[in-house]
Amino acid sequence: MEKDAVTTPAFDIRPTTQATEANVRAEILANPGFGRYFTDHMVHVRWTKNDGWHSGELRPYGPLTLDPAASVLHYAQEIFEGIKAYRHADGSVWTFRPEKNAARFRASARRLALPELDDATFIESLRTLVRQDIDWVPTPASEAEESSLYLRPFMIASEKFLGVKPSKEVDYYVIASPAAAYFKGGVKPVSIWLSSNYNRAAPGGTGYAKCGGNYAASLAAQQEAESHDCDQVAFLDAVENKWVEELGGMNLFFVYRDGRLVTPALTGTILEGVTRDSILQLGRDAGLTPEERPISIDEWREGVNSGEISEVFACGTAAVITPIGELVTEHGRIGGAGEEGGEIGKRLRKQLLDLQYGRAEDTHGWLTRL
Ligand code: PMP
Repeated sequence: MEKDAVTTPAFDIRPTTQATEANVRAEILANPGFGRYFTDHMVHVRWTKNDGWHSGELRPYGPLTLDPAASVLHYAQEIFEGIKAYRHADGSVWTFRPEKNAARFRASARRLALPELDDATFIESLRTLVRQDIDWVPTPASEAEESSLYLRPFMIASEKFLGVKPSKEVDYYVIASPAAAYFKGGVKPVSIWLSSNYNRAAPGGTGYAKCGGNYAASLAAQQEAESHDCDQVAFLDAVENKWVEELGGMNLFFVYRDGRLVTPALTGTILEGVTRDSILQLGRDAGLTPEERPISIDEWREGVNSGEISEVFACGTAAVITPIGELVTEHGRIGGAGEEGGEIGKRLRKQLLDLQYGRAEDTHGWLTRL
């Protein structure tokens, strides 16, 4: 069923006169990787303290003109989102729970003292860009080919002023980038480095907001992970260094042999993942027992060692569900779910993808047509 009838046609459409040639686009879509190529257009909406949101437009993709004193460049007053557009077998293009991203974007805005963008305009901005650049939405040739168009809405403080205060001028943009399956040649478990030198977020900080600063702060830990031959980094809480929080860009789940599906509770220091929320619901539907609660690094270690925990996986929009193969810490290694990942994670992964690509009935009303 089609939700969200178009209500806010607030964007002036200024198409490019230099669209990418069809054969060049086809070449890119055959091997897009992630985040490297961008479509022909972008959306822009301006905000000023005096006039609020205005001047919504779709315009050719291209560099921004920003004053060197723009506050985003100095004080990182910036937020973003990540969401995908999926092409279904009949050619139609859909997105997944965009109202969750819209709400999270507003929550991030409040935390960063940026103006809130209303949900209808947020969703309409995605639709406006995807409709214009519809040929950039990949058509997966098979179920294994999890290609999509990744959408990146973001908001920056653009006022020319070096004082530390909320900007009186703000710009919102959406850009889009074709994305290949995260795992080429099948899902592979990732290895995780447990950061003991760095924390990602602290109580009262910005952990629950999707702001650039959180990701900047995670990079040194990610480098540390790589120096230990690990793919990703896991963070503990900043107060006791004991409670498992999340990865640099994904939430965590623990599957217990008795059917419990445990994920760290939302305490304000972790990002409220849309995939996380969807997995909790799908788990409940499947008769598992979801639990949102603190889980300590000791419980992880002991659960895996005793076999009580049968699977550990990470989840997020980019990679859907990623099995965790091994956790590496300063004090040794904790095993994971084996070479293939676990059965529950695999099943939930397929369920999510079947929903997103329109191969399963959308019983929760999670899809929105773009
Ligand atoms: N945690 C962090 C820190 C992230 O950056 C992301 C990706 N947005 C997630 C979790 C997963 O969130 P989602 O399922 O909404 O993509």
